[in-house]
Amino acid sequence: MTYKKAIILLSMIETHGSLSILAKEKSIQALEKQIPKKVLEDKNTYLCPNCGANAETDCGDDMLDYRLNYCDNCGQKLDWSDFSKVKEALEKQIPKKPQYEAEGYSNGELVYDYAKCPICGHDFEYDINDWGCEYCSDCGQKLDWS
Ligand SMILES: [Zn+2]
Ligand SMILES: [Zn+2]
Repeated sequence: MTYKKAIILLSMIETHGSLSILAKEKSIQALEKQIPKKVLEDKNTYLCPNCGANAETDCGDDMLDYRLNYCDNCGQKLDWSDFSKVKEALEKQIPKKPQYEAEGYSNGELVYDYAKCPICGHDFEYDINDWGCEYCSDCGQKLDWS
């Protein structure tokens, strides 16, 4: 049974007295929060469509804002589908430096001949594969090799 169906069925149940009406309303509200609602955007911050609380939290990764699946204020299930792809696509256009790693020495100096894509960890080896390519072939991240 879908949540929507459950809500319809619940709302058809006859209630007697204020207590059972309240219980019914609470159940319907609880079920409604299980149906994802689209997150609202306001100047690059994302808000719960139900209560207006921040839909992201700072305690996630530095690279990606941590997006809540459920609002931590009201329990509303959040739908990010409008933003995820657009935001990711835009972020991939901002060049990021590959994470260089030194694998060996040459004339006593470290040689950074190995690098990883900062987003997906795709391996780049000097003079092999796609070292120096403009976009990561695995995830599409624009790379800054300077
Ligand atoms: Zn909320
Ligand atoms: Zn990548």
